[in-house]
Amino acid sequence: MTSTVAKTGKSTLPSVTDDPRWARIVSRDKTADGQFWYSVSTTGVYCRPSCPSRGANPRNVQLHATLEEAKATGFRPCKRCNPDGPSIEAENAALVVKACRLIEEGEEEPSLEELASAVGRSPSYFHRVFKAHTGVTPKDYAAGHRAAKVRQGLVSGNSVTEAIYDAGFNSSGRFYEKSTDMLGMTPSQYRAGGANEEIRFAVGQTSLGALLVASSRKGVAAILLGDDPDKLVHSLQDRFPRAHLIGADRDYEALVARVVGFVDAPRIGLDLPLDVRGTAFQQRVWQALRDIPVGATVSYAEIARVIGAPKAVRAVAQACAANNLAVAVPCHRVVRKDGSVSGYAWGVERKRALLDREASQRGQAGAATSQLQSGGSGTSLRIV
Ligand SMILES: [Zn+2]
Repeated sequence: MTSTVAKTGKSTLPSVTDDPRWARIVSRDKTADGQFWYSVSTTGVYCRPSCPSRGANPRNVQLHATLEEAKATGFRPCKRCNPDGPSIEAENAALVVKACRLIEEGEEEPSLEELASAVGRSPSYFHRVFKAHTGVTPKDYAAGHRAAKVRQGLVSGNSVTEAIYDAGFNSSGRFYEKSTDMLGMTPSQYRAGGANEEIRFAVGQTSLGALLVASSRKGVAAILLGDDPDKLVHSLQDRFPRAHLIGADRDYEALVARVVGFVDAPRIGLDLPLDVRGTAFQQRVWQALRDIPVGATVSYAEIARVIGAPKAVRAVAQACAANNLAVAVPCHRVVRKDGSVSGYAWGVERKRALLDREASQRGQAGAATSQLQSGGSGTSLRIV
């Protein structure tokens, strides 16, 4: 009854509830903060969209595209959501940074409760915010940091035991349990910079320039692209500083030929075991990249969302840059939000050439491509 009256009585005035921004106020959408503001005539205050105060009657609400516009109403800034100050998002980012420093500087790993109280938030809220920003839990972050310290200690010549204790592991048993995950090899092997590890490699030519393929016993560990074969070999040495690099024999040349064929026609797929080395976070990013079908591209933000770390867009870009396996881990299929091509460890021109080629192959070989797409791992990537 009343709704009929309201409808007929106000039919000429557009209601604020018809504006899509109203739903974001109702849901207290934090991602809307900074995009618009609203004021409430009955209370005489203006707020950011995520304001936690009791929902206002939409009839008394006005939306503002800018903070200046909200101020121009002459109303007061709301005390609860502090619309003039840093947004909740910016505050959360600052508290995550603070927590990271606490983890890095602590003698012992701080507990979740200790970290949360140091930044003045509840443990569950802090945990959620930390994961959204970094892509990992505080515990994983601490583990990753300790692993990096062990690596540093081992490379700078400490004994394995010293490096383990220096990094804050209180028993070497606990470290050894996790060491292969963290280092990709046993600690002594790592200390030797992979000295006991043999890496075979060979350089070939593709339509995109020189290509270097290197393998450990576990599988293909590097595919590098460039103009100058010598530089590629140096780059390989940098990536595996103390490994024993062995120039290829004839058997290996056959494998290189397969990789060359794959780089020239990615849709045939590379049916070879890969030795993927990186942090847990990098590995999640790289796995998501491998799920992007040939001929498609996605944004960095989309990868961040798919791996459950929507705030970690920059870390995703860094993981893409750290990729050792060109084309096999297709970091070239990640582009800017607006679709523009940027940032490729092996040259933007090469990235553009790869994408152009894949797009045209998708046109020629629709059947093969759709097969690849349905064979994906089922993550919901939105293709741009
Ligand atoms: Zn407010």
